[in-house]
Amino acid sequence: MRRVVCPGSFDPVTNGHIDIIGRAARQYDEVIAAVLTNISKRGLFSPEDRVAMLREATEDYPNVRVQQFDGLLVDFCRENDIPGIIRSLRSVSDFDYELQIAQMNYQLAGVETLFMTANPQYSFLSSSLVKEVASYNGDVSTLVAPHVEQALRDRFAGD
Ligand code: ADP
Repeated sequence: MRRVVCPGSFDPVTNGHIDIIGRAARQYDEVIAAVLTNISKRGLFSPEDRVAMLREATEDYPNVRVQQFDGLLVDFCRENDIPGIIRSLRSVSDFDYELQIAQMNYQLAGVETLFMTANPQYSFLSSSLVKEVASYNGDVSTLVAPHVEQALRDRFAGD
């Protein structure tokens, strides 16, 4: 069984995330989309909401499983028998950061990181930008799934 993890905050899931997860699902037998819920990294959405939105967004992929995790990614990999991590690169600045983390994870536990290049259509897209645009009532309908767009609208309705 060729299994990999696509880790992230997914706060909230965007079309860029789905693109990477979908492409990984074509390459591997099983993809675990793992939602990092470290307390120090408080998000706009609760861990439960992020997991639920990601589950709905990936429901068409039978070999994608969504899980929540806390702590070190390499421990999650060991516990779930996952030999590889998929991360995506949107820009050179992503690479600078990701290279260090990948080397650290290999050093810590021998877990490999495999990089996929972001689809150019989504290389400008991040959860933080989506939140910023949505907070000003901007149109994010081409950037996130309809249920995520609705969740953002609800979240910012009271602000
Ligand atoms: P993190 O805070 O760990 O970077 P994110 O939720 O921002 O978590 O991202 C999770 C993964 O999805 C990362 O590998 C990131 O590079 C990738 N990703 C984020 N946005 C995009 C995008 N627009 N296109 C492709 N991959 C993306």
